Amino acid sequence: MRLLYNRQIITKEIKMAIQTAAEWRKSKIKEDQIAKYLNPDGSDFINDAQIEQKIASHVNPDKGRIREILQKSLSIATLDPDETAMLLNVRDPDLWSEMESTASLIKKKVYDKRIVHFAPLYLSTTCVNNCAYCGLRAENESINRGVLTIEQVQQEIEVLAGTIGHKRLIVVYAEHPRSDVDYMAETLQAIYDVKVPTKTGGYGAIRRVNVNGAPLSVEDFHRLNQVGIGTYQIFQETYHKATYAKMHPKNTLKGHYHWRLYAMHRALEAGIDDVGIGALFGLYDWKFEVMALLAHAWELENKFGIGPHTISFPRIEPAENTSFAETSSYTVSDADIRKIITVIRLSVPYTGMILTAREDAAMRKSLIPLGITQTDASSKVGLGAYHDYANPDQVSERQQFILGDTRSLDEVVRELGKLGYITSFCTAGYRCGRTGQCIMDLLRTGAEGKFCKLNAVITYREWLDDFASEETKVIGEPIIQREIEEIRQKMPSFYDTFIEQYNRTAKGERDIYF
Ligand code: SF4
Repeated sequence: MRLLYNRQIITKEIKMAIQTAAEWRKSKIKEDQIAKYLNPDGSDFINDAQIEQKIASHVNPDKGRIREILQKSLSIATLDPDETAMLLNVRDPDLWSEMESTASLIKKKVYDKRIVHFAPLYLSTTCVNNCAYCGLRAENESINRGVLTIEQVQQEIEVLAGTIGHKRLIVVYAEHPRSDVDYMAETLQAIYDVKVPTKTGGYGAIRRVNVNGAPLSVEDFHRLNQVGIGTYQIFQETYHKATYAKMHPKNTLKGHYHWRLYAMHRALEAGIDDVGIGALFGLYDWKFEVMALLAHAWELENKFGIGPHTISFPRIEPAENTSFAETSSYTVSDADIRKIITVIRLSVPYTGMILTAREDAAMRKSLIPLGITQTDASSKVGLGAYHDYANPDQVSERQQFILGDTRSLDEVVRELGKLGYITSFCTAGYRCGRTGQCIMDLLRTGAEGKFCKLNAVITYREWLDDFASEETKVIGEPIIQREIEEIRQKMPSFYDTFIEQYNRTAKGERDIYF
């Protein structure tokens, strides 16, 4: 199997030599796959002027009206643009406190006390684009770049799945012929193939691979879907067209605003029914970006009946030889990121919300209660870093940006446990077909929570037995007992089957799920 992968990579190198980067760029964008979604006048679903107008027209919203909107959010209904614009314009600190409390309640209602954990894994850092804010931009000569071989990818997985205990990844590909869809498909398969024996007689393995990569054509998305992609995630970075043009030079692939904007449409058309959107906060006005994210969610709901499974809201971070983070006029303060998370949680109540280790430990602790459902830990964003670095030190010349929190998974799980959260390593939804329209309906009605609760306990049991320190086990055991008692009381019809499967897991059987 490994020889086959290597031969394919060598073939790719030869193909590259005969195809110039410019030709490759030209062949990537399929205008007909954009045009079919545009409005008859050539416009798209992000109306910059209308967004600015809505934000400007709802200053000083009425307190009573805000409370009505909070009730609507609590019913797990997506807010309309006027309602979101009103929330963004609230000034009264007491009202913001009410909004934060409601956001927490919604999270509890849809996702209970679960936090799903994943790890980022960079597979390539060689990029054809030149984004002004990014350490990996093509013109940045300070970066040591590369594309991992299949052997190197598998070495990374041996650490992630065999030593740390992760079950879910977001793999990141820079945009380049060397990391095209063939490479993506080969590496996804290689990741799923790795199984590492654990001390309890089971094995560590990655069970769900989400992908953060460049926009693809419908045909290429279809190919990825066949290999078993989890969520396809792509951020528009900024939805504001003039800012987008400034950040992404026109002669680059990423300079094509519409090719990126309609990537989710093509993914959904190709059958990938689990997608994650996001914006990079700090490029333009944060209120505009929140409104645009909502417009994107509405567009997907209206056209496909499926909203985004996750929304991300990374803040721009320092990067090697890149001064953008320090000089941007749209830097988002700690107070404003709280507002961003609160308003997104209220506006799209069913969606998963991802907070990453870009934020430091203290910020993560304070932001998670506002409605976060997924986070990462033990994170490294350097190429080959999990296998290469013996400690959590970061090597700025090898990574896209500098992380704020490099704590181990064990430390983060322990901290969350002390706060009453259960870490879930569940990947069952995707493997059982609970994705797309199905997962949306289950989340809105609260039914998905039942499966998630059972699977969270079983996967937490696995992880505590296979990977946790003694200190973390002490914190984790009472949480398991609390959850089991809740299942007994609130889900009596599931209890007998659940406890039978839980006991099998406690005895060493692995990968049991509902
Ligand atoms: Fe390349 Fe992505 Fe960085 Fe842009 S943001 S330069 S596309 S890695």
